[in-house]
Amino acid sequence: MAQISINIKEGTISKPDIIVGIDLGTTNSLVAIINKAGMPEALCDADKTAIVPSIVHFGKEGAITVGNSARQHLIDDTANTIYSVKRLMGKSYNDIAAIQQHLGYKIIDDNSESLVKIKVGEKFYSPIELSAFILRELKLRAEHVLQQQITKAVITVPAYFNDAQRQATRDAGKLAGLDVLRIINEPTAASLAYGLGNVKNAQTIAVYDLGGGTFDISILQLTPSENDGGYFEVLATNGNTFLGGDDFDRLIVEHWLQTNNIAADTVDKQLMQTLRLKAETAKKHLSTNDIFEDKINDIVCRLSVNEFETLITPLVNETIVCCKNALRDAGLKIGDIDTIVMVGGSTRTPFVKKSMTEFFNKPVNDSLNPDEVVALGAGIQADILAGNQKDMLLLDITPLSLGIETMGGLMDVIIPRNTKIPTGAGRQYTTSVDGQSKLLIAVYQGERDLVSHNRKLAEFTLSNIPGMPAGLPKIEIVFQLNADGILQVKAKELRSGVEQSIEVKPQYGLTEEEMGGMLLESIKNAKTDMEQRAIIEARVEAQNMLDTCERFIVKNAAHLSAKEISGTRELMVALQNTLNSSDKNVIQQHIEALNEFTRPFAERLMDMAISMAMKGKTL
Ligand code: AMP
Repeated sequence: MAQISINIKEGTISKPDIIVGIDLGTTNSLVAIINKAGMPEALCDADKTAIVPSIVHFGKEGAITVGNSARQHLIDDTANTIYSVKRLMGKSYNDIAAIQQHLGYKIIDDNSESLVKIKVGEKFYSPIELSAFILRELKLRAEHVLQQQITKAVITVPAYFNDAQRQATRDAGKLAGLDVLRIINEPTAASLAYGLGNVKNAQTIAVYDLGGGTFDISILQLTPSENDGGYFEVLATNGNTFLGGDDFDRLIVEHWLQTNNIAADTVDKQLMQTLRLKAETAKKHLSTNDIFEDKINDIVCRLSVNEFETLITPLVNETIVCCKNALRDAGLKIGDIDTIVMVGGSTRTPFVKKSMTEFFNKPVNDSLNPDEVVALGAGIQADILAGNQKDMLLLDITPLSLGIETMGGLMDVIIPRNTKIPTGAGRQYTTSVDGQSKLLIAVYQGERDLVSHNRKLAEFTLSNIPGMPAGLPKIEIVFQLNADGILQVKAKELRSGVEQSIEVKPQYGLTEEEMGGMLLESIKNAKTDMEQRAIIEARVEAQNMLDTCERFIVKNAAHLSAKEISGTRELMVALQNTLNSSDKNVIQQHIEALNEFTRPFAERLMDMAISMAMKGKTL
C-alpha cells in the first residue's frame, strides 16, 4: 500500500520516493519499477519499447542524443557515435589494447595505466560521463512515465566487474543525478526476477547470459535467511566478451556470400550492413519458423533452420566449454545445479535453449522476456530497498564512502557507501618523488570528489620507506570496517615490509541529517566535482608526462636528432603553459600532441635498447 507523506514545513503533499532498477547494458539498457499491481515492469517509450540502445551521438551543434535516435548515426557519423562504452568502464589504456580494433571511435592511446578517454571532435569524455548520458536518458524516461522526480536507483553490473568498474558505475549514476543505493550483479538480478530470492531451500543456480556481443555464465549459491529472503554469492563466472548474437549474424552473411559465389572483399560497406541487418531478420524469423527466403538485388538470402543450427554449433559449443570451466572453478558437477536461468536476446534461439537443456539435463527457466529479466530483477531489488526495512538496512551498510586523499587533493574511495559491513578493501599506491621516505595518509569520509568538501577522519604517516626511485615502492593501503563500524586503516610498503596502522570510528559526530545533507550536496555538485576532478587528473597526467620527457631527453640525448630534441622541447613548453588552464580538453590536446611527436623515436630507442640488451650492453 503506497503512503502519501505531507511536508509539514511547506504544507505540500509529496509522493513517496520511487527507486528504479536499471540494467546498464553493453548493447541495450532498460529501467524498471514495481507497478501498482505489485509486478515488476520495464518502462516503455511512446512506441511501447522498453529497450534503450546504449549509444550516444554527438551532433554538430552540440546536440547529444541517446538510444534509438543515436543508433541511426552508427553508419553515417561513426566517429561521433559512441557504443559499447561499458567495455571501457574502469579500464586503463593498457587494459583495452586488445579491444581497440573492435571500436569505430577514437580512444586516445597513451600506452599507460591512466583511465581511458574517448575523443569526440575536440572534446575528451570519460566512460563515466558517457554512461551518465545513458543513465540520464533512463531517468528522464522514468520521470516521464511516472510523472515524478526520480533520484534513487539500483544499477546492475556483470558479476566479474572489479571494484574500479563498480565505482565507475556508481559515479556515472551520481553524475546523472541518481543516488545509487546498490550495485547488484546481473545474474543475481535475473535470479530475483524468477522469484528465486524467496525460496526456502538453498539453491545452486546457473545463469546463462547470451546477448548481442557478450556471453557470461555465472554460478550462484543462494542461501535463504530468516529475515530477508536470502543472500546470493557468486561461486564462479566465465564467458567470452566477444561472443554473441552478432556473431550468429556474421556467420549467416558469410554463408550467403558463399552460396551466391561472392568474395567478401568485393562487397562495399553499405551492402555489408544491409546484409547484416537481413541476417538478423533471418535469425529472428528462424526462432519460430523453419525456413527464411528473401533477396537483396540479385543476392538470394535463403536459410533453413537446419543450416542455421549447423552454422552456429561451434559458437554454442564454445559457450558449453565456458559452462564446464565455470562448474570446474566452482568445484561442482552438472548434477549439482538446481536451476538454470536464461538471459539475453540470443537465448531466444531455440537451438541455444535446447543445447542448454541437454547440457544441464534439466529444463531451463525461460518464461520471462530475456531482454528485460535483469532490469526486472533490479526493479525488485529497488522495491525491497524502498520497503519498511530502512532501519535494518542502515545497521549493516556503511552510509558514506570512505577513502584517502591522492594527488591534487582528490578523494580516492576505498569502501563505497552502502557497502555491506563487515567489509575490507585495499589498493596499491606508490611514491611520486625519488628517494621519498615518508607518505602521509589522510582518511576521509564523504561523497564529493575533492577531499576539501569531505570530512577528514584521521591522518598518519608511513615512515622509514627505504630510498627507492619514484614509482618503485608498492604501498598497500587496506581498509577494514568491522560490524560495529570501526575502521582500521593499514599501510604497508610491500618491498620492505614497513607498516603502520590506525583505528577510527567513521560515523562519530555525524547525525542522520548531516549525512543526508552531505549526500544531497554530492549529487547536486556531481557535475562540477567531476569537471574539477577531470582538470586535476589532466594536470597530474601532464606533469607526469613533462617529468618523463625531461628524464628521457637528458638520458638519451646522444641518440636523438637536434630536430627531435627541439621539437619535443617546444611541445613541452606548450604543455607547461596549459597547466593552469581550466579546460581539460586543452591540456589533453597538448598531452596528445607531445605523445604523437615523441612516440616514433621512443619506440626506436626501445627497439635499440632491446637489441643492445640482447648483445649484453645497456643503453
Ligand atoms: P541483448 O544484448 O541481450 O539485448 O541481445 C541482443 C541479441 O539478441 C541480438 O543479437 C539480437 O539479434 C538477438 N535476438 C533478439 N531477438 C531474437 C530472436 N527472436 N531470436 C534470436 N535472436 C534474437
